[in-house]
Amino acid sequence: MRAIAPHLRGRPCAPGKRREEKKCARNLRNRCKEEGEDYAVVNFYHLVDLEDVSQEAELHRRFCSEKDIRGRIYISSQGINAQFGGKKEDALAYADFVEGRPAFRGLRYSVEDCEGHAFPRLAIREKQWLIPLQGGTVDLPVTDPSCRATPLSPAEWKKMIQRQEQEGSKPILLDVRNGYEWDAGHFRGASRPPVDVFRETPTTRGVEEAFPELKEAEEGQPILMYCTGGIRCDIYSTWLKQQGFDQLYTLEGGIANYLRSEGDDEEVWKGSLYVFDQRLATYRDKPAATGCYHCGGPVVPAAHINCANADCNWHFLCCEACREKFRSCCSTECMHADRLRPVLERGGRYERMHEYVDGSDEERWQRGEGTRRRRRQWRARLRLRRAEKVASKLRGLGLSSPSSTNEESAASASTDEMESASAARTRHG
Ligand SMILES: [Zn+2]
Ligand SMILES: [Zn+2]
Repeated sequence: MRAIAPHLRGRPCAPGKRREEKKCARNLRNRCKEEGEDYAVVNFYHLVDLEDVSQEAELHRRFCSEKDIRGRIYISSQGINAQFGGKKEDALAYADFVEGRPAFRGLRYSVEDCEGHAFPRLAIREKQWLIPLQGGTVDLPVTDPSCRATPLSPAEWKKMIQRQEQEGSKPILLDVRNGYEWDAGHFRGASRPPVDVFRETPTTRGVEEAFPELKEAEEGQPILMYCTGGIRCDIYSTWLKQQGFDQLYTLEGGIANYLRSEGDDEEVWKGSLYVFDQRLATYRDKPAATGCYHCGGPVVPAAHINCANADCNWHFLCCEACREKFRSCCSTECMHADRLRPVLERGGRYERMHEYVDGSDEERWQRGEGTRRRRRQWRARLRLRRAEKVASKLRGLGLSSPSSTNEESAASASTDEMESASAARTRHG
């Protein structure tokens, strides 16, 4: 039996009963929207000491079991971090429920209207830490506001950047996110994070290794840090403060809050805002801050795709024309791989590989057998070639090239985030 359903090879296939059944089940599960219902995405986090994490999580599970919401809700002894969505009424009811809990009093949440469900399922997890950071965060006093950076309102943030520019000094802007988020959009003047995945930001070695800008910081020079919603800055600034930096400022509520209140003025902000749900980006009508991986041209809508080769799954920016030309693949090599998934017309995330095949392979892939090994082998093969491509592009721009480990990180990040069952890891701010 063929490993891949013929329609994935670009040939018509007889509509077998089994395949039709699978398609129906898939549509039902992915049913995005009920007519006449409003949907929303809600984000919040709250850093606070919690004594009984299990009991707290159980209460949240019970409340959510009667609501139509999906997303990631992580609870640890250091607080809560939640990105979820669903029927607006239900999503807001849950946010109000959390805000009403004595431990989370004062919590603030953001609400964005959305077309249907933005997350595939609901996961309420008890975690050791809310944000994965090398070395962990358990020993950091992240719940003490005096141990972290000073928050600036979006208006103050903008003024601070402009004032420093007027005074002739270049503000030190730290993008505390993953490298590929910077690719979609960033504040002008901020460098691409030196690691592709935030959780790999070194905290066990020198600060300069994490952000070279910090090495050049003069004494007393303000350091402005930002992330999507604020949690990554709150946690990372706690660590930076311990390293002796005291002129630290964060953007309150993160980029999401800034764009809502100050707008996406091109002089300050460039591109779209990467988000970790099925939309993949908001403010996506403008070109992404960096160009298409294949042709360098503008990417509109400014959202990432994953390589259609399930054994590669690389997360990258690709323009519409190249998506068609390369069938959503990152390379011609991937276009001829065995485990190809169909081109997703509107982007977004793929189903698990076994959803696309029939027969004995379905069962094998359902168990995930060999997936890790295949990906490892595939990546090893592509890594060098891809690193060379990125390096030559950067050389063309007059920038230095990233290390090959960054390439590996990018690949593993996309694997983790976009497809694997354990995708729900907190790395949001
Ligand atoms: Zn292109
Ligand atoms: Zn690929």
